[in-house]
Amino acid sequence: MQSQGALLVVSLYMVAVAFGESDSTWNYIRSDAMFGPSAWGMNFPECALDRNSPIDIVTEDAVRQEAQRWTLTGWDSPTTWTVYDKNYTMEFGLNAAGSIRTSGGDLGNYDMIQFHFHWGSSNTAGGEHTLNGAEFPLEVHFVHKRSDFATIGAAVESEEDDALAAVGFFFTIQAEDNVELNTMLAGVNAARNTGTFETSGFNLNALDDFTGDAINGNFYRYYGGLTTPGCNQIVKWTVFETPIGISAAQMTTLRSGTPNSYGTEYYRPVQAVGSRLVVLYDTNYQPFRRGGRRRPNRGGRRNRNRNRNRNGRRNRFNRNRFNRNRFNRNRFNRNRFNRNRFGQ
Ligand SMILES: [Zn+2]
Repeated sequence: MQSQGALLVVSLYMVAVAFGESDSTWNYIRSDAMFGPSAWGMNFPECALDRNSPIDIVTEDAVRQEAQRWTLTGWDSPTTWTVYDKNYTMEFGLNAAGSIRTSGGDLGNYDMIQFHFHWGSSNTAGGEHTLNGAEFPLEVHFVHKRSDFATIGAAVESEEDDALAAVGFFFTIQAEDNVELNTMLAGVNAARNTGTFETSGFNLNALDDFTGDAINGNFYRYYGGLTTPGCNQIVKWTVFETPIGISAAQMTTLRSGTPNSYGTEYYRPVQAVGSRLVVLYDTNYQPFRRGGRRRPNRGGRRNRNRNRNRNGRRNRFNRNRFNRNRFNRNRFNRNRFNRNRFGQ
């Protein structure tokens, strides 16, 4: 019986490969104890290590720093993409390598490679990261390589913990369509029929339309990994706090290809944060407040007022002064983090 069973498994595997549905070495089926998410670590050792992604982001545990401006080069230029139907995601590969660069945001210089989506069978879950336990129906990941690597292959082979940068945005359901997504969703529909599809040029136009207010708002940073096998722990993660809007009808378009051999829930469950720090880049960060407790103002009222502009934001002088004190601030926050974690 054992050999017959093995033969059956081999036959099913060959059928699956023949149809190109799955390589059968992993899927998203929670109940699959051999190839589902809970088993990835058996077949892909890095999936069982201690810096995996996604994670539940807990605002209260995050180390606060002042939000840093982003520099998005080429995001607002008409760009063509090749859409790949990978069954477990729809991936948009950038055709002109190096034409979109993301920097600022305390990130460094990274070149866009592709972006892709994670979703589930309903609007109650589907995004990968969660925020204070809250789940989102959709999450987009913009995947970049560090600019000093010639290729993404070289970046991966380096095994450096910041070789790649993933920039994630949550989505939330809104009543009306988000028209900025329409060109992308048309590409998704076309690739469903053909396997791949070349889009016409469109702008990511992140600052004003596609990402709305998200790009100018709070964001979280931590070091983690790819959320699909082999879970390479080489990813500097950014997750924006403010979700992007999408309609239920647009979500249905994304789901039109399901189900397949990967299942219907195309997101990895959250992984342990462990001893990692999560940094919150906070647009409302106030230098004289930590943990809600006002600290002695060494400069006095006059100095404090001088260091703020009309909107209550600290000015450049003040920011630079605090950057010089960055080591001490981080040390303080690390202690606070550990105290919270271990209940000391
Ligand atoms: Zn992803």
